[in-house]
Amino acid sequence: MALAPEKLFLAAPRGYCAGVDRAVQTVERALELYGPPVYVRKEIVHNKHVVEQLRERGAIFVDEETDVPAGETVVFSAHGVAPSVHANAERRELKTIDATCPLVTKVHVEAKKFAADGYTIVLIGHAGHEEVEGTMGEAPESIVLIETEEDVDSLEVADPDRIAFVSQTTLSVDETNAIILKLRERFPNIVGPRTDDICYATTNRQAAVRQMAHACDLVLVIGSRNSSNSNRLVEVARDHGADSHLIDNEAQVEEEWLEGKRVVGITSGASAPEELVQRLVDFFRARGTQEVSEFEVVQEDVRFMLPKDIRKAMAAA
Ligand code: SF4
Repeated sequence: MALAPEKLFLAAPRGYCAGVDRAVQTVERALELYGPPVYVRKEIVHNKHVVEQLRERGAIFVDEETDVPAGETVVFSAHGVAPSVHANAERRELKTIDATCPLVTKVHVEAKKFAADGYTIVLIGHAGHEEVEGTMGEAPESIVLIETEEDVDSLEVADPDRIAFVSQTTLSVDETNAIILKLRERFPNIVGPRTDDICYATTNRQAAVRQMAHACDLVLVIGSRNSSNSNRLVEVARDHGADSHLIDNEAQVEEEWLEGKRVVGITSGASAPEELVQRLVDFFRARGTQEVSEFEVVQEDVRFMLPKDIRKAMAAA
């Protein structure tokens, strides 16, 4: 007989953040306004399901702006791009629509300002992540990337009194605080944002899963492998006493994970649509789970306006 937990908790908040909602809507509106194809540089958000749905509607995903035919329309993803990407697009006479999340843009602005003031900037983030590549591109000569507390020990800077830090928006809140603490110990004059650059959505989703994990035997996180904030949710759940797994959808739930599990918590990364959560709930209901309740920790009410080009084109249409 199929195993079923007695109870499901649904973390709140979970799923789409304001930046992802804005980015996905940007591609949808661009398809309506300009007609397919609309090119999108990289995955608009790190979720396979969302990317597939947009592809079916006529979006073409490319790795680089140089892969877009001259003169076509291209949307830049929520993770942000380096200035060199804008320059390449201009050379190819592409019509660009920038769906960079405003909270990523804020980090770019901080990095540019610190670089202009002559600081060495320590960027806390994950090597190879698109957001990190975009931020580093703002001041490649001035930025050094660190990923762990150990990296602080081996950090070498020209002037330890002229050093600043910024961070990726989707990191582990706890790990980043520990890194910042170590940076402040080693470089007492370091400057930076008031706390860190981790965005409200990452912070709130981690806070919710942190509390929910204590009440659960297992936490399932819906999100794609390349989604930084989804991977962090799994780590937070494990650190706070629950087994946890990252899944794209309900088809990836493994029977053995459910053995002996009475209470299962469900959450989803900032780029995962609610539809996938409801499919997972239906999966458990079909097996016999009856009790489903929200586990609300923080209320969220953040919205971002669509990019200016899209708003203007919508008004004209
Ligand atoms: S996770 Fe945060 S920074 Fe990233 S798109 Fe969402 S709100 Fe913006």
